[in-house]
Amino acid sequence: MKTIRDFDLSGKKVIIRVDFNVPMKDGKITDDNRIKASLKTIKYALDNNAKVILLSHLGRIKTEEDKLNNSLKPVSVRLSELLNMPVKFIPVTRGIELEDAITNMNNKDIILVENTRYEDLVNKAESSNDKELGKYWASLGDLFINDAFATSHRTHASNVGIASHLPSGIGFLIEEELKALDLDNAERPLTIILGGAKVSDKIGLINNLAKKADNILIGGGMAYTFIKASGIDVGSSLLDEENIEFAKTMLEKYKDKLVLPIDSVNKDKNGNIRTCFINEIKEDEAGLDIGIQTIKLFKNYLSDSKTVIWNGPVGKFEESPFDNGTKELCKILESLDIKKIAGGGDTASAVINLGYKDAFTHISTGGGASLELLEGKKLPGVIYEEENN
Ligand code: ADP
Ligand code: MG
Repeated sequence: MKTIRDFDLSGKKVIIRVDFNVPMKDGKITDDNRIKASLKTIKYALDNNAKVILLSHLGRIKTEEDKLNNSLKPVSVRLSELLNMPVKFIPVTRGIELEDAITNMNNKDIILVENTRYEDLVNKAESSNDKELGKYWASLGDLFINDAFATSHRTHASNVGIASHLPSGIGFLIEEELKALDLDNAERPLTIILGGAKVSDKIGLINNLAKKADNILIGGGMAYTFIKASGIDVGSSLLDEENIEFAKTMLEKYKDKLVLPIDSVNKDKNGNIRTCFINEIKEDEAGLDIGIQTIKLFKNYLSDSKTVIWNGPVGKFEESPFDNGTKELCKILESLDIKKIAGGGDTASAVINLGYKDAFTHISTGGGASLELLEGKKLPGVIYEEENN
Protein backbone atom coordinates (compact mmCIF):
# COMPACT_ATOMS: atom_id res chain seq x y z
CA MET A 1 0.00 0.00 0.00
CA LYS A 2 1.46 3.34 -1.03
CA THR A 3 0.97 6.55 0.90
CA ILE A 4 1.36 10.14 -0.20
CA ARG A 5 4.89 10.06 1.24
CA ASP A 6 5.94 7.53 -1.40
CA PHE A 7 5.54 9.97 -4.31
CA ASP A 8 7.52 12.90 -5.62
CA LEU A 9 4.78 15.51 -5.76
CA SER A 10 6.77 18.47 -7.01
CA GLY A 11 5.20 20.10 -10.06
CA LYS A 12 2.66 17.28 -10.31
CA LYS A 13 -1.07 17.67 -10.69
CA VAL A 14 -2.20 15.73 -7.64
CA ILE A 15 -5.86 14.79 -7.46
CA ILE A 16 -6.84 14.32 -3.81
CA ARG A 17 -10.20 12.74 -3.02
CA VAL A 18 -11.18 14.24 0.32
CA ASP A 19 -14.31 13.86 2.40
CA PHE A 20 -15.98 17.26 2.62
CA ASN A 21 -19.39 15.71 3.25
CA VAL A 22 -20.08 18.17 6.08
CA PRO A 23 -23.45 18.84 7.70
CA MET A 24 -25.03 22.03 6.31
CA LYS A 25 -27.98 24.13 7.37
CA ASP A 26 -29.33 26.98 5.21
CA GLY A 27 -26.14 27.02 3.17
CA LYS A 28 -23.92 27.20 6.28
CA ILE A 29 -21.52 24.53 7.51
CA THR A 30 -22.56 23.41 11.00
CA ASP A 31 -19.54 21.20 11.74
CA ASP A 32 -16.22 21.58 9.93
CA ASN A 33 -14.42 18.62 11.53
CA ARG A 34 -14.19 16.76 8.25
CA ILE A 35 -12.56 19.73 6.54
CA LYS A 36 -10.07 19.97 9.38
CA ALA A 37 -9.36 16.24 9.17
CA SER A 38 -8.22 16.68 5.55
CA LEU A 39 -5.77 19.52 6.19
CA LYS A 40 -2.72 17.43 6.97
CA THR A 41 -2.71 15.76 3.55
CA ILE A 42 -3.56 18.96 1.68
CA LYS A 43 -0.83 20.95 3.43
CA TYR A 44 1.70 18.20 2.83
CA ALA A 45 0.94 18.27 -0.91
CA LEU A 46 1.18 22.08 -1.04
CA ASP A 47 4.40 22.10 0.97
CA ASN A 48 5.82 19.66 -1.54
CA ASN A 49 5.08 21.95 -4.51
CA ALA A 50 2.13 20.05 -5.90
CA LYS A 51 -0.78 21.46 -7.87
CA VAL A 52 -3.64 20.29 -5.72
CA ILE A 53 -6.97 19.33 -7.27
CA LEU A 54 -9.58 18.41 -4.66
CA LEU A 55 -12.59 16.21 -5.31
CA SER A 56 -15.35 15.46 -2.80
CA HIS A 57 -19.00 14.57 -2.65
CA LEU A 58 -21.59 16.31 -0.49
CA GLY A 59 -24.93 14.74 0.38
CA ARG A 60 -26.99 12.86 -2.18
CA ILE A 61 -27.98 14.26 -5.58
CA LYS A 62 -31.17 12.92 -7.10
CA THR A 63 -32.75 16.07 -8.60
CA GLU A 64 -31.64 19.39 -10.05
CA GLU A 65 -32.86 20.98 -6.83
CA ASP A 66 -30.52 18.81 -4.74
CA LYS A 67 -27.67 20.47 -6.63
CA LEU A 68 -28.63 23.89 -5.27
CA ASN A 69 -28.54 22.64 -1.68
CA ASN A 70 -25.34 20.63 -1.99
CA SER A 71 -22.80 22.84 -3.68
CA LEU A 72 -19.27 22.69 -2.28
CA LYS A 73 -18.90 26.47 -2.69
CA PRO A 74 -19.26 27.20 1.07
CA VAL A 75 -16.68 24.51 1.74
CA SER A 76 -14.16 26.26 -0.51
CA VAL A 77 -14.65 29.43 1.55
CA ARG A 78 -14.09 27.62 4.85
CA LEU A 79 -11.12 25.70 3.47
CA SER A 80 -9.57 28.93 2.29
CA GLU A 81 -9.92 30.35 5.83
CA LEU A 82 -8.39 27.26 7.40
CA LEU A 83 -5.45 27.18 4.97
CA ASN A 84 -5.10 30.94 5.01
CA MET A 85 -4.72 31.05 1.24
CA PRO A 86 -6.96 31.30 -1.83
CA VAL A 87 -8.83 28.17 -2.86
CA LYS A 88 -10.21 28.39 -6.38
CA PHE A 89 -13.67 26.90 -6.62
CA ILE A 90 -14.70 25.34 -9.95
CA PRO A 91 -18.52 25.22 -10.15
CA VAL A 92 -18.60 22.24 -12.52
CA THR A 93 -17.47 18.62 -12.44
CA ARG A 94 -16.20 18.42 -16.04
CA GLY A 95 -15.56 20.48 -19.16
CA ILE A 96 -13.54 23.42 -20.46
CA GLU A 97 -13.80 25.60 -17.35
CA LEU A 98 -12.33 22.84 -15.20
CA GLU A 99 -9.70 21.82 -17.73
CA ASP A 100 -8.54 25.42 -18.32
CA ALA A 101 -8.30 26.07 -14.60
CA ILE A 102 -6.04 23.05 -14.21
CA THR A 103 -3.88 24.02 -17.20
CA ASN A 104 -3.36 27.45 -15.64
CA MET A 105 -2.33 26.16 -12.21
CA ASN A 106 1.05 26.96 -10.70
CA ASN A 107 2.81 24.82 -8.12
CA LYS A 108 1.25 25.26 -4.66
CA ASP A 109 -2.09 26.31 -6.17
CA ILE A 110 -5.24 24.61 -4.98
CA ILE A 111 -8.62 24.16 -6.61
CA LEU A 112 -11.80 22.53 -5.35
CA VAL A 113 -14.03 20.93 -7.96
CA GLU A 114 -17.82 20.96 -7.51
CA ASN A 115 -19.59 18.04 -5.77
CA THR A 116 -18.70 14.78 -7.53
CA ARG A 117 -22.26 13.54 -7.05
CA TYR A 118 -23.60 16.14 -9.46
CA GLU A 119 -22.59 13.40 -11.90
CA ASP A 120 -25.16 11.08 -10.30
CA LEU A 121 -27.99 12.81 -12.17
CA VAL A 122 -27.11 10.82 -15.28
CA ASN A 123 -27.14 7.06 -14.59
CA LYS A 124 -25.64 7.53 -11.11
CA ALA A 125 -22.30 7.83 -12.87
CA GLU A 126 -20.27 8.74 -9.78
CA SER A 127 -21.87 6.31 -7.32
CA SER A 128 -21.90 3.40 -9.75
CA ASN A 129 -18.27 3.93 -10.75
CA ASP A 130 -19.03 4.73 -14.38
CA LYS A 131 -15.89 3.75 -16.31
CA GLU A 132 -15.85 6.82 -18.55
CA LEU A 133 -16.18 9.22 -15.62
CA GLY A 134 -13.31 7.74 -13.58
CA LYS A 135 -11.13 7.78 -16.69
CA TYR A 136 -12.02 11.41 -17.44
CA TRP A 137 -11.21 12.63 -13.92
CA ALA A 138 -7.97 10.64 -13.96
CA SER A 139 -7.00 12.37 -17.23
CA LEU A 140 -6.92 15.69 -15.33
CA GLY A 141 -4.02 14.71 -13.05
CA ASP A 142 -0.67 12.95 -12.74
CA LEU A 143 -1.21 11.23 -9.40
CA PHE A 144 -4.16 10.22 -7.25
CA ILE A 145 -4.35 10.28 -3.46
CA ASN A 146 -7.45 8.97 -1.71
CA ASP A 147 -7.98 10.45 1.72
CA ALA A 148 -11.77 10.20 1.94
CA PHE A 149 -12.00 7.51 4.61
CA ALA A 150 -15.76 7.76 5.14
CA THR A 151 -16.46 6.73 1.53
CA SER A 152 -13.62 4.27 1.17
CA HIS A 153 -15.99 1.32 1.67
CA ARG A 154 -17.76 2.36 -1.53
CA THR A 155 -16.70 1.74 -5.11
CA HIS A 156 -17.21 5.12 -6.75
CA ALA A 157 -15.76 6.82 -9.83
CA SER A 158 -14.01 9.43 -7.66
CA ASN A 159 -12.04 6.82 -5.70
CA VAL A 160 -11.79 3.36 -7.24
CA GLY A 161 -12.45 4.68 -10.76
CA ILE A 162 -9.65 7.25 -10.77
CA ALA A 163 -7.27 4.91 -8.95
CA SER A 164 -7.54 2.37 -11.75
CA HIS A 165 -6.00 4.87 -14.20
CA LEU A 166 -3.30 6.69 -12.21
CA PRO A 167 -0.44 5.96 -9.84
CA SER A 168 -2.32 6.03 -6.54
CA GLY A 169 -1.90 6.01 -2.80
CA ILE A 170 -3.62 6.96 0.43
CA GLY A 171 -3.39 10.17 2.43
CA PHE A 172 -2.62 10.70 6.11
CA LEU A 173 -6.22 10.48 7.32
CA ILE A 174 -6.85 7.05 5.80
CA GLU A 175 -3.46 5.90 7.03
CA GLU A 176 -4.32 7.02 10.55
CA GLU A 177 -7.77 5.39 10.41
CA LEU A 178 -6.34 2.07 9.21
CA LYS A 179 -3.80 2.10 12.02
CA ALA A 180 -6.31 3.05 14.70
CA LEU A 181 -8.75 0.32 13.68
CA ASP A 182 -6.16 -2.39 13.10
CA LEU A 183 -7.19 -5.21 15.44
CA ASP A 184 -4.32 -7.48 14.43
CA ASN A 185 -1.56 -5.13 15.55
CA ALA A 186 -3.27 -3.51 18.54
CA GLU A 187 -1.39 -3.53 21.79
CA ARG A 188 -2.96 -6.05 24.19
CA PRO A 189 -5.03 -6.58 26.19
CA LEU A 190 -7.48 -5.32 23.58
CA THR A 191 -10.94 -4.57 24.96
CA ILE A 192 -13.96 -3.73 22.83
CA ILE A 193 -16.96 -1.81 24.09
CA LEU A 194 -19.83 -2.94 21.92
CA GLY A 195 -23.19 -1.25 22.08
CA GLY A 196 -25.82 0.19 19.80
CA ALA A 197 -29.31 -0.86 19.01
CA LYS A 198 -29.51 -4.11 17.12
CA VAL A 199 -27.57 -7.35 17.04
CA SER A 200 -28.61 -7.82 13.41
CA ASP A 201 -26.61 -4.73 12.32
CA LYS A 202 -23.48 -6.14 13.85
CA ILE A 203 -23.32 -9.90 13.28
CA GLY A 204 -20.21 -9.62 11.09
CA LEU A 205 -18.64 -7.33 13.63
CA ILE A 206 -19.33 -9.60 16.61
CA ASN A 207 -17.94 -12.62 14.74
CA ASN A 208 -14.69 -10.86 13.89
CA LEU A 209 -14.24 -9.12 17.25
CA ALA A 210 -14.88 -12.32 19.19
CA LYS A 211 -11.97 -13.91 17.36
CA LYS A 212 -9.57 -10.99 17.74
CA ALA A 213 -10.28 -9.12 20.97
CA ASP A 214 -9.40 -10.16 24.52
CA ASN A 215 -12.57 -8.78 26.11
CA ILE A 216 -15.89 -7.64 24.67
CA LEU A 217 -18.01 -5.54 26.99
CA ILE A 218 -21.55 -5.59 25.66
CA GLY A 219 -23.96 -2.77 26.43
CA GLY A 220 -26.71 -0.84 24.67
CA GLY A 221 -29.82 -2.29 23.14
CA MET A 222 -28.03 -5.32 21.82
CA ALA A 223 -27.05 -6.46 25.32
CA TYR A 224 -30.66 -7.45 26.06
CA THR A 225 -30.67 -10.03 23.28
CA PHE A 226 -27.56 -11.59 24.83
CA ILE A 227 -29.13 -11.47 28.29
CA LYS A 228 -32.25 -13.15 26.96
CA ALA A 229 -30.03 -15.77 25.32
CA SER A 230 -28.47 -16.47 28.71
CA GLY A 231 -31.94 -17.36 30.00
CA ILE A 232 -32.98 -14.12 31.73
CA ASP A 233 -36.17 -12.21 30.90
CA VAL A 234 -35.66 -8.65 29.69
CA GLY A 235 -39.21 -7.26 29.92
CA SER A 236 -39.97 -4.77 27.16
CA SER A 237 -36.33 -4.09 26.29
CA LEU A 238 -35.14 -4.12 22.70
CA LEU A 239 -35.00 -7.75 21.64
CA ASP A 240 -33.74 -9.20 18.40
CA GLU A 241 -35.71 -12.47 18.43
CA GLU A 242 -34.12 -13.76 15.26
CA ASN A 243 -30.65 -13.56 16.72
CA ILE A 244 -31.18 -15.09 20.16
CA GLU A 245 -29.75 -18.38 18.86
CA PHE A 246 -26.73 -16.57 17.42
CA ALA A 247 -26.19 -14.81 20.76
CA LYS A 248 -26.45 -18.15 22.58
CA THR A 249 -23.82 -19.72 20.33
CA MET A 250 -21.47 -16.79 20.83
CA LEU A 251 -21.95 -16.88 24.60
CA GLU A 252 -21.05 -20.58 24.67
CA LYS A 253 -18.11 -20.27 22.32
CA TYR A 254 -16.59 -17.12 23.77
CA LYS A 255 -17.72 -17.23 27.39
CA ASP A 256 -14.32 -16.06 28.61
CA LYS A 257 -14.42 -12.93 26.48
CA LEU A 258 -18.00 -11.70 26.47
CA VAL A 259 -19.01 -9.57 29.43
CA LEU A 260 -22.70 -8.73 29.89
CA PRO A 261 -24.34 -6.01 32.01
CA ILE A 262 -25.27 -6.97 35.57
CA ASP A 263 -27.71 -4.12 36.12
CA SER A 264 -29.98 -1.99 33.96
CA VAL A 265 -31.63 1.43 34.00
CA ASN A 266 -35.21 1.01 32.82
CA LYS A 267 -38.24 3.03 31.87
CA ASP A 268 -41.75 1.62 32.28
CA LYS A 269 -44.82 2.40 30.20
CA ASN A 270 -45.73 5.32 32.50
CA GLY A 271 -42.31 6.87 32.12
CA ASN A 272 -41.02 5.84 35.55
CA ILE A 273 -37.29 5.29 35.66
CA ARG A 274 -35.72 2.60 37.86
CA THR A 275 -32.38 0.82 38.14
CA CYS A 276 -32.38 -2.90 38.97
CA PHE A 277 -30.26 -6.03 38.79
CA ILE A 278 -30.36 -7.59 35.37
CA ASN A 279 -32.64 -10.46 36.45
CA GLU A 280 -35.23 -8.08 37.93
CA ILE A 281 -36.46 -6.23 34.83
CA LYS A 282 -40.27 -6.10 34.94
CA GLU A 283 -42.58 -7.06 32.12
CA ASP A 284 -43.46 -3.44 31.23
CA GLU A 285 -39.94 -2.05 31.66
CA ALA A 286 -37.50 -1.38 28.83
CA GLY A 287 -33.79 -1.33 29.66
CA LEU A 288 -32.28 1.83 28.20
CA ASP A 289 -28.87 2.10 29.85
CA ILE A 290 -26.28 0.19 31.85
CA GLY A 291 -26.35 0.79 35.63
CA ILE A 292 -23.63 1.72 38.13
CA GLN A 293 -22.67 -1.88 38.92
CA THR A 294 -22.07 -2.59 35.24
CA ILE A 295 -20.03 0.59 34.89
CA LYS A 296 -17.83 -0.61 37.79
CA LEU A 297 -17.50 -4.06 36.24
CA PHE A 298 -16.55 -2.59 32.86
CA LYS A 299 -14.07 -0.26 34.55
CA ASN A 300 -12.08 -3.26 35.82
CA TYR A 301 -11.60 -4.54 32.28
CA LEU A 302 -10.85 -1.10 30.83
CA SER A 303 -8.26 -0.34 33.50
CA ASP A 304 -6.37 -3.53 32.61
CA SER A 305 -6.34 -2.85 28.87
CA LYS A 306 -3.72 -1.36 26.59
CA THR A 307 -6.13 -0.68 23.73
CA VAL A 308 -9.86 0.05 23.84
CA ILE A 309 -12.00 0.22 20.72
CA TRP A 310 -15.56 1.41 21.20
CA ASN A 311 -18.40 0.86 18.77
CA GLY A 312 -21.98 1.60 19.75
CA PRO A 313 -23.28 3.75 22.62
CA VAL A 314 -24.11 1.66 25.72
CA GLY A 315 -27.46 3.39 26.26
CA LYS A 316 -30.12 5.43 24.54
CA PHE A 317 -27.79 8.42 24.84
CA GLU A 318 -30.09 10.83 22.97
CA GLU A 319 -32.44 10.80 25.98
CA SER A 320 -31.24 11.91 29.42
CA PRO A 321 -30.58 10.23 31.87
CA PHE A 322 -29.90 7.24 29.61
CA ASP A 323 -26.71 8.93 28.41
CA ASN A 324 -25.19 8.29 31.84
CA GLY A 325 -23.52 4.95 31.05
CA THR A 326 -21.95 6.29 27.88
CA LYS A 327 -20.82 9.42 29.74
CA GLU A 328 -19.33 7.45 32.65
CA LEU A 329 -17.39 5.17 30.30
CA CYS A 330 -16.03 8.30 28.59
CA LYS A 331 -14.89 9.58 31.98
CA ILE A 332 -13.16 6.29 32.77
CA LEU A 333 -11.39 6.32 29.41
CA GLU A 334 -10.41 9.95 29.90
CA SER A 335 -8.53 8.93 33.05
CA LEU A 336 -6.64 6.08 31.37
CA ASP A 337 -3.34 6.57 29.60
CA ILE A 338 -3.92 3.92 26.92
CA LYS A 339 -4.94 3.84 23.26
CA LYS A 340 -8.65 4.70 23.02
CA ILE A 341 -10.53 4.64 19.75
CA ALA A 342 -14.17 5.42 19.00
CA GLY A 343 -15.65 4.17 15.73
CA GLY A 344 -19.18 4.28 14.34
CA GLY A 345 -21.40 7.19 13.32
CA ASP A 346 -23.52 7.40 16.47
CA THR A 347 -20.62 6.55 18.76
CA ALA A 348 -18.55 9.41 17.36
CA SER A 349 -21.39 11.91 17.66
CA ALA A 350 -22.26 10.65 21.18
CA VAL A 351 -18.77 11.06 22.62
CA ILE A 352 -18.24 14.40 20.88
CA ASN A 353 -21.63 15.82 21.90
CA LEU A 354 -21.18 14.64 25.49
CA GLY A 355 -17.95 16.67 25.56
CA TYR A 356 -15.37 13.88 25.56
CA LYS A 357 -13.64 14.40 22.22
CA ASP A 358 -10.29 14.83 23.94
CA ALA A 359 -10.65 11.64 25.96
CA PHE A 360 -9.90 9.65 22.81
CA THR A 361 -6.70 8.92 20.94
CA HIS A 362 -8.72 8.76 17.75
CA ILE A 363 -12.35 9.23 16.77
CA SER A 364 -13.05 7.65 13.43
CA THR A 365 -14.41 9.95 10.72
CA GLY A 366 -16.23 7.11 8.98
CA GLY A 367 -19.26 5.23 10.29
CA GLY A 368 -19.78 2.55 7.66
CA ALA A 369 -16.12 2.38 6.69
CA SER A 370 -14.96 1.90 10.28
CA LEU A 371 -17.55 -0.84 10.80
CA GLU A 372 -16.37 -2.68 7.71
CA LEU A 373 -12.76 -2.46 8.87
CA LEU A 374 -13.70 -3.85 12.28
CA GLU A 375 -15.58 -6.64 10.51
CA GLY A 376 -12.25 -7.56 8.96
CA LYS A 377 -13.17 -6.48 5.44
CA LYS A 378 -10.87 -4.77 2.99
CA LEU A 379 -12.00 -1.37 1.79
CA PRO A 380 -12.24 -0.98 -1.99
CA GLY A 381 -11.24 2.71 -1.82
CA VAL A 382 -7.98 1.87 -0.07
CA ILE A 383 -5.35 1.19 -2.67
CA TYR A 384 -3.87 -2.05 -1.37
CA GLU A 385 -2.46 -3.26 -4.69
CA GLU A 386 0.18 -1.40 -6.57
CA GLU A 387 -0.55 -2.55 -10.09
CA ASN A 388 -0.57 0.97 -11.55
CA ASN A 389 2.44 2.27 -9.73
P1 ADP B 1 -22.99 3.30 15.61
O1 ADP B 1 -23.66 4.23 14.65
O2 ADP B 1 -21.92 3.99 16.42
O3 ADP B 1 -22.48 2.05 14.94
P2 ADP B 1 -25.49 2.15 16.41
O4 ADP B 1 -26.16 2.79 15.26
O5 ADP B 1 -25.30 0.68 16.38
O6 ADP B 1 -24.08 2.85 16.69
O7 ADP B 1 -26.28 2.45 17.75
C1 ADP B 1 -26.75 3.69 18.13
C2 ADP B 1 -28.17 3.63 18.59
O8 ADP B 1 -28.37 2.66 19.62
C3 ADP B 1 -28.63 4.93 19.17
O9 ADP B 1 -29.70 5.44 18.40
C4 ADP B 1 -29.08 4.58 20.60
O10 ADP B 1 -30.24 5.29 21.01
C5 ADP B 1 -29.40 3.12 20.47
N1 ADP B 1 -29.39 2.44 21.77
C6 ADP B 1 -28.37 2.26 22.62
N2 ADP B 1 -28.76 1.60 23.73
C7 ADP B 1 -30.07 1.35 23.59
C8 ADP B 1 -31.06 0.70 24.40
N3 ADP B 1 -30.75 0.17 25.57
N4 ADP B 1 -32.32 0.64 23.91
C9 ADP B 1 -32.64 1.17 22.73
N5 ADP B 1 -31.77 1.80 21.91
C10 ADP B 1 -30.50 1.89 22.34
MG1 MG C 1 -25.64 4.19 13.75
